[in-house]
Amino acid sequence: MDCPVCREPMIVLEHEAIEVDYCLSCKGVWLDAGELELLFGDAAACAAFLDAGDAARAKGEKPRRCPVCRRKMEKGVTGGGAPVTYDRCPRGEGLWFDEGELAQVLKHGATDDRQGAVVGFLRDVFPDEAAR
Ligand SMILES: [Zn+2]
Ligand SMILES: [Zn+2]
Repeated sequence: MDCPVCREPMIVLEHEAIEVDYCLSCKGVWLDAGELELLFGDAAACAAFLDAGDAARAKGEKPRRCPVCRRKMEKGVTGGGAPVTYDRCPRGEGLWFDEGELAQVLKHGATDDRQGAVVGFLRDVFPDEAAR
C-alpha cells in the first residue's frame, strides 16, 4: 500500500492482533477498519470519540486519497483535550493519521483501563512516540 501523502510504499508494523501501515518518510499511519476499535477496546466509545470534535477545525487541510480505494477521504476531528484532524475513507475502509496523531488519539481517547494496552502498543510499534 502506498502512503496517501507522499505515495511511498508503507511498511507493515504488527502488535498482537493489530497491523498498521506506516510510512517511513512522513511517519503517518494507516489503520484498517476495526483496528482502532481493537485498541480502544470498545467500538461505540471509539466511534463517539472520532466524531466528537468540531469538524470546522478540519478546514484547510489538504484532501487525501484513500490508499485502498483511491477515493477522496473525508476529514474528521476527534474529541479530547487535544483534538486531532484525521482522514477517513468514505467507504469505511480505514483511517489515516499524520505523524504523532495516532499516539495523541490513543492517549486521549482510550478508556483508563485500556491505557496499559495503549502504552504497550505505542512502545512496541512507535517507540519514539511512546517516549513523548
Ligand atoms: Zn508518507
Ligand atoms: Zn477507501
